Amino acid sequence: MTTSLEELKLFIGGKPVDARSGRTFESLNPYTGEPWARLADGGPEDVDEAVAAARSAFEGEWGTMTGFQRAAIMRKCGDAIAADAERLARLEVNDSGKLLREMLGQLKSLPQWYYYFSGLADKVEGRTVPPVNPNYFGYTTREPVGVVGAITPWNSPLLLLTFKLAPALAAGCTMVVKPSEHAPASTVAFAEILHEAGLPAGVLNVVTGWDRSTGEALSTHPGVDKVAFTGSSATGAKVAQAAVANFNRVTLELGGKSPQIVFPDADLDAAANGLVAGVFAATGQTCMAGSRLIVHADVHDALVEKVVARANAIVLGDPTEADTEMGPVANRPQYEKVLGYLQGAAAEGATFACGGEPDAERGGLFVKPTVVTNVTPENTIVREEVFGPVLAAYTFTDEDEALKLANDTPYGLAGAVWTKDVHRAHRVAGKLRAGTVWINAYRVIAPNMPFGGFGASGIGRENGVDAINEYTENKSVFVELTGGTRDPFQLG
Ligand code: NAD
Repeated sequence: MTTSLEELKLFIGGKPVDARSGRTFESLNPYTGEPWARLADGGPEDVDEAVAAARSAFEGEWGTMTGFQRAAIMRKCGDAIAADAERLARLEVNDSGKLLREMLGQLKSLPQWYYYFSGLADKVEGRTVPPVNPNYFGYTTREPVGVVGAITPWNSPLLLLTFKLAPALAAGCTMVVKPSEHAPASTVAFAEILHEAGLPAGVLNVVTGWDRSTGEALSTHPGVDKVAFTGSSATGAKVAQAAVANFNRVTLELGGKSPQIVFPDADLDAAANGLVAGVFAATGQTCMAGSRLIVHADVHDALVEKVVARANAIVLGDPTEADTEMGPVANRPQYEKVLGYLQGAAAEGATFACGGEPDAERGGLFVKPTVVTNVTPENTIVREEVFGPVLAAYTFTDEDEALKLANDTPYGLAGAVWTKDVHRAHRVAGKLRAGTVWINAYRVIAPNMPFGGFGASGIGRENGVDAINEYTENKSVFVELTGGTRDPFQLG
């Protein structure tokens, strides 16, 4: 049995290497429940080696390249990802149980990020600054931050890595990535593919590890200049503290409890479809899950009925089958967490309009798509991120109340407003405390649109032209123009 496991090592300095300890760990396929890959169990000593490789690339060949040269390599990386999209998607499905059709779509779109940011690599520009004092001329440059430590979660490993890697490469940085212990395989294969496509040795290094201390070693490493983290808000807080202690730059992409506000004039069929996309696609395991339905009291019953009808018809099953719409929860701890939230909701007096339990017929890690009603804004199921296929529905009667309820959360990653009234749509979008707002849509992202959160959903933004600034330092240069000397005791 174990002989057929796919073997994946660490990837450091352009080569696959064993963990120094010689240890390995197995990755389980959440659909079959069987181990399918064996990975190197890297620890702090491997992180040291990877950071050294990234530093040496930064100070070596990669660091001396122009933006034009980096852009040319990035375009080849995009082509190589496109060519291997299916293989990479299958690795992600084996690790996370997400639908092949979703991951295939995701992987096929990934090259866009490398093409888009390759277009920015040769435009990392400073400014000339008009002098306040005529004796001096000023200009600014943007320089790469240096070595980036990237830490990623299990739900979309390569997409979330790409949000960091594409701008980092464009800026001229190098990277060490620590993927989640629950879905590490695709990241190792990805680094190999990019290296074969022409990314020089040491520019992208991967350290997998079962123990969470591997991520900790990377986020606290004195040789890392910036930490780019995606994961839970609880871990993000620890990562941020570690980064600050090292005076590191940090971006955090964290959790969410995103609202979908539905006004009575909305197209209820479209809204129901958006709610299904928001919370049942990817088995609800997405940071931007639209897990709170805040619906006008007049249309609550009609909308819930539509969502429940669709939820009950969702095809659960093998994530690799074309007809499957929802796979299992990605790992046992997460499955138990979701069930714990369902039990908690019942104990707090909520009712289940559908679901509310594991799918006993299927067994394994399947949870039925769930719509929870009879909740109050104080209930745990309304306040905390479940990261599973669970929608909590409650009502409002006017726009102010809708906004108050929507913004009553520590999070602020995303949200949607469903209405045909164009004035109200933009008014509400403007008042939602969220990094991304969709109007009559849900779960749309793009390389050129910033993504990130308010409040407990994170710090900084990924994607979009400004993302490159997260990977550069801004330097000011003053040039003395007269050749003269002046009073050394006066500020120039
Ligand atoms: P997690 O916080 O448990 O783990 C994320 C990563 O951090 C993993 O690689 C883990 O090994 C590592 N880690 C754990 N402890 C660490 C420590 N002390 N120091 C450094 N690294 C450490 O998150 P998860 O369960 O893998 O992912 C789910 C969470 O990610 C959800 O909260 C979800 O909302 C969030 N998420 C956010 C976004 C976004 O873009 N905002 C996207 C996807 C997922």
